[in-house]
Amino acid sequence: MQTNNIVLTGMVLSAMPVGDYDKRVTILTKERGKITAFVRGARRPNSQLVAVANPFCFGEFELYEGRNAYTLSKANVKNYFRELTLDVSSAYFGFYFLEFANYFCQENTEEKEFLKLLYQSLRALESPHFDNNLVKAVYELKAITLAGIAPSMFSCMRCHKTENLNYFSIERSGIFCGNCKKELKTYKISDATRYTMQFVISQSVEKLYTFKLSDEILDELRYIMKKFIEYHIQHKFKSLEIIEQDVYNYKG
Ligand SMILES: [Zn+2]
Repeated sequence: MQTNNIVLTGMVLSAMPVGDYDKRVTILTKERGKITAFVRGARRPNSQLVAVANPFCFGEFELYEGRNAYTLSKANVKNYFRELTLDVSSAYFGFYFLEFANYFCQENTEEKEFLKLLYQSLRALESPHFDNNLVKAVYELKAITLAGIAPSMFSCMRCHKTENLNYFSIERSGIFCGNCKKELKTYKISDATRYTMQFVISQSVEKLYTFKLSDEILDELRYIMKKFIEYHIQHKFKSLEIIEQDVYNYKG
């Protein structure tokens, strides 16, 4: 009996061809965070692993744990997110979500909440009930919350009052009241957008996708999240350029 075989629950974040017939995949797992695994024969047409070694595949992965690397031997895929991959626009959002998770998740740590967030967010992208841009903003905000870098949204960062909180500072990563915002570069933020951000930060992952926003509020939220991520995460997400080609109405 092979003692080095383990079963992990996770989702394939990316897949790269290696040699003529193989692939290397990055999987976000519940139990061990991000792992990289070698998939022998994943590009041979008759291999059982052809369908498995692709982005979005979610399920249980049986892996052989070698000294330096994992090798995928079997998988029980529960969801391929086929609906999502068939719609070009939604697929790009999905690829961005995977890239975002790849950036934030670590190796050798439990990533149960992040995996749940990714799964729920991809489900929301598939659903006709939600605007993809809403799902994106919610996903981004909850992801940075899980990463421990959420903006401070519940009281004024200077005087700690909880009234008239209508000024958001990207640089200070939080909210200010009208009295304290002086000399700070802030964006005016509506109550509705602030409530939305408070909800996303404090709510459990399971209950995130339960609301809709007006176009006006969604534009404001998108704008704030875009500026926040540009400032605090100095990383160029390749898949983001494609989704961001459309124009915002909100000017700050
Ligand atoms: Zn204040």
